[in-house]
Amino acid sequence: MPKHGTMRRYWRGCRCLPCRAACSVYRQTPHDGLVPAEPVCRQLELFPTQREAARATLVSRATIARILNGRTKQVSLRVARQIQKAKYTPPPPKPEPEFSLLPIIQRMGSIARAARLTGLHRNTIWKFRCGITAQLRPETERKILNAIEL
Ligand SMILES: [Zn+2]
Repeated sequence: MPKHGTMRRYWRGCRCLPCRAACSVYRQTPHDGLVPAEPVCRQLELFPTQREAARATLVSRATIARILNGRTKQVSLRVARQIQKAKYTPPPPKPEPEFSLLPIIQRMGSIARAARLTGLHRNTIWKFRCGITAQLRPETERKILNAIEL
């Protein structure tokens, strides 16, 4: 069994204070196969949460936390590659809930009546009610709004 206070003992699973100290020293000093954590850290900072970073990169949350709070100065090439590969892509923005004039038009009853009340063309009303027109022009919206006030 390797001595306490060595990485070899730590790797065997010992978490006593000397072994953890050895591990901490190990993580702060340059080694073959390790790369600076700094650029990797920049990448991780783009993720909104550590949880999301862990999910996207498949790197453990403990490792991610250590990189982000600067306790690890170097990471393995494997971890660096995984993090670099998993670029953060923000989720698509939710569409703003749109104020809809459709229920107002529907409450006006028939297309003919809605056309009469708003002063809009029947075709315009019809297209809007059928969902053919998704977006109304501002002046059309105004006419509908004016009709409610009556
Ligand atoms: Zn130990």
